[in-house]
Amino acid sequence: MSEPIYVTQPFLPPLRELQPYLEQIWKNRQLTNAGPFHEQLEQALCNYLGVDHISLFANGTLALVTALQALRIAGEVITTSYSFVATAHSLLWNGIQPVFVDIDPESLNLDPAKIEEAITPQTSAILPVHVYGRPCDTAKIQQIADIYGLKVIYDAAHCFAVQDQGGSVLRHGDLSILSFHATKVFTTFEGGAIVSPDAKTKQRIDFLKNFGFADEVTVVAPGINGKMNEFQAALGLLQLKYIDDALKQRAEIDCRYRAALSSLTGIRCLSLPESKRHNYSYFPIMVEPEYPIGRDALYDRLKNSNIFARRYFYPLITDFPMYRGRPSARPERLPVAMAIAGKILCLPIYPELTEPQVARIAEIIADV
Ligand SMILES: *Cc1c(COP(=O)(O)O)cnc(C)c1O
Repeated sequence: MSEPIYVTQPFLPPLRELQPYLEQIWKNRQLTNAGPFHEQLEQALCNYLGVDHISLFANGTLALVTALQALRIAGEVITTSYSFVATAHSLLWNGIQPVFVDIDPESLNLDPAKIEEAITPQTSAILPVHVYGRPCDTAKIQQIADIYGLKVIYDAAHCFAVQDQGGSVLRHGDLSILSFHATKVFTTFEGGAIVSPDAKTKQRIDFLKNFGFADEVTVVAPGINGKMNEFQAALGLLQLKYIDDALKQRAEIDCRYRAALSSLTGIRCLSLPESKRHNYSYFPIMVEPEYPIGRDALYDRLKNSNIFARRYFYPLITDFPMYRGRPSARPERLPVAMAIAGKILCLPIYPELTEPQVARIAEIIADV
């Protein structure tokens, strides 16, 4: 049996290149609390991503929880069931009630046409997800938010480096959050960030991620410990040197999969977004009824060949016990999300995935 192939593999820079960063940390003796690498990484990411204000976090979930705190979101928030469970969990950790709205069958993102009917007097915000790094209909969502006076926080965990016609997709809404988890395109092992529109908002977020401290003797809010440490920040700075190569390799793999799979009956590759820059963070396919076997049977068949595809996002968030009793979680309210969750399969994609490996995965899918 050949080596196992996982859905993703972290892209790690040469180990010896980490040594000088570690020596610097040992010399500085500052391990966390806005150390020099932390400050450098915030600046470097602003430049690379094309945004003005970034606050680094220990992970993406703390960034989500803190973003909701920063804007004092309460009551009900409209969100999607077609995401990683942290999206909705961040609401429960803030005592906010999630209200689930169905997704668009093409974008797989929150369907703007279904948002308005879910708004109540308690609604304070919309929490959409740019699923697989394919941008939401940000113009339509903003239009609805403006009419009803709602905040918009984007879960942009999949969106590192993604740009639409106007620039970074992270500029949309009131805040966007990123994840730098080991499984993401850009990783600091664990890590995350909030992108803010102005310096004042960033400052409030920086207080919140450090227990609410504004200075040595002043605590202005019941903050949390969400800080990114110097080791993570050093990993980020090193990783950033290789990110363009990594994205290029991902693009090539995406292209090879499309060439090998797009003519297969019953296999549908998701269209590439019209974004100016995509990050190829996932390679999702739909296993349609015309395909000889079902999605789960294909998943098992790949697994038997030591290839570990993932059914992102199955189960839906609304299938989990802390959500499924809610009126908005009823299956008849979410027909599109239900249908997609039943046929989606994310194939392995990561920079070091080789051409023969892609060919082998495609062959197994074609040979069914
Ligand atoms: C990865 C992810 C998160 C959580 O990020 P962590 O850094 O793992 O806490 C949140 N939302 C989505 C959509 C994700 O994919």
